[in-house]
Amino acid sequence: MTTRPQTADVIVLGAGIIGVSIALHLQERGKSVLLVDRGEPGAETSHGNAGLIERSSVIPYAFPRDLKTLLAYASNRATAVRYRPATLLRMAPWLARYWWHSGAGRLDAAAQAMLPLIEACVTEHARFTEAAGTAPFMRGDGWIDLYRSSAALRDATAAAAALESHGLAYEVLDRDALREREPDLHGDAAAGGVHWRDPVTVSDPGAVTRAYAALFVARGGRLAKGDALALQQDGVSWRLPAGGQTHQAPEVVMALGPWSGDLYTRLGYRFPLAYKRGYHMHYEPASGALPRHPLCEAHAGFMLTAMTGGIRLTTGIELAERDAPSDTRQLDAAERVARQLMPLGRRLEPEPWRGARPCLPDMLPVIGRAQHHEGLWFAFGHAHHGFTLGPVTGRLVADLLTTGTSFITGEPFRPGRF
Ligand SMILES: Cc1cc2nc3c(=O)[nH]c(=O)nc-3n(C[C@H](O)[C@H](O)[C@H](O)COP(=O)(O)OP(=O)(O)OC[C@H]3O[C@@H](n4cnc5c(N)ncnc54)[C@H](O)[C@@H]3O)c2cc1C
Repeated sequence: MTTRPQTADVIVLGAGIIGVSIALHLQERGKSVLLVDRGEPGAETSHGNAGLIERSSVIPYAFPRDLKTLLAYASNRATAVRYRPATLLRMAPWLARYWWHSGAGRLDAAAQAMLPLIEACVTEHARFTEAAGTAPFMRGDGWIDLYRSSAALRDATAAAAALESHGLAYEVLDRDALREREPDLHGDAAAGGVHWRDPVTVSDPGAVTRAYAALFVARGGRLAKGDALALQQDGVSWRLPAGGQTHQAPEVVMALGPWSGDLYTRLGYRFPLAYKRGYHMHYEPASGALPRHPLCEAHAGFMLTAMTGGIRLTTGIELAERDAPSDTRQLDAAERVARQLMPLGRRLEPEPWRGARPCLPDMLPVIGRAQHHEGLWFAFGHAHHGFTLGPVTGRLVADLLTTGTSFITGEPFRPGRF
């Protein structure tokens, strides 16, 4: 005897911050939702990041165009960006497209497309805070970019002023003001900094994602373990074995983060997705010294953040295949610079955590209805800002899926643009 499949309105694949937020929003619109992951919610990229809800990132991370930066990166000795030479060759066509999209007019268009999502990121997280009980993880006092030289601080001050039309709250800190705000920094570690005040930062992004998933379950949502790659289209519905049962739904949302390509390629889709990998390591505080705010060493491109697991150092960009073995040289180099900034105790894990930021060359995520399959939706490619954009992406997807419109047009993110 075959058992009848369990039915849902929507199956959401992937319980990172993107999938969990989509599930919560669909549930709020009265949909019965099954959320599926092969592991625990929030255990992958949504756990390992730097925890910024980055309200101040109004310009996407573009391909650098100034010669000095390009030469520094080309040497492959910069701490902010590393690459595997063989990967770089394979990535060359993708990098050329990224470079093209980073030209002034096109970068401006990408920034305009992203702006409504970025502007709503803090308030959309805040909508879940009370119900999910995540307030203890949230810090509302922004983060600080550090500059080692006065010249770099001057350039950063001019760059911040150029963003003034966005109405961002920031303060330029000279050496003394920085020391006052970050008393554990070594005396002459930095010439100053820019304190971005609008962003909210979290002390445990994985725990926040887990709490949102727990809220979804507490409100009656179903969470099951399963392999998204077992998804099958069956007439007008989708079937998936998960949690020991077969499930069926007319709609499926794919939110598999860096693993999205594993499934969309099986379904016949091609997207120019590349990976900017990153590492993290936790350190014991030395003599109680802690960053009071998340600190970004702007030149070396890493963040130092007090997290529940210790002081987390998250590295900049490594251009490498998603699953290539870890290479700890970038983390080692960042750690050397970090120890010049402030006292850091011993490493708290034997191996660094490694993750991948899935990136499209036009710097926009893929959000929307799939072109060739009825009832299939995509939500991936959030690059540097997936933790920031989880809840607002959830709102956009749930609106589009249930009503066909949202508070913004989803047009710039449509899957068919490639
Ligand atoms: C070093 C680093 C620092 C970062 N810092 C920040 C930051 O400060 N702020 C910010 O906004 N963003 C940051 N990001 C980016 C951010 O972490 C990601 O964009 C975001 O977490 C992506 O969320 P996601 O839900 O798409 O992916 P994930 O969190 O990776 O979730 C995908 C889920 O899919 C599941 N999955 C995969 N394959 C299958 C399968 N076959 N079957 C079932 N389930 C499957 C995985 O188990 C996982 O739970 C950072 C990223 C890195 C690497």
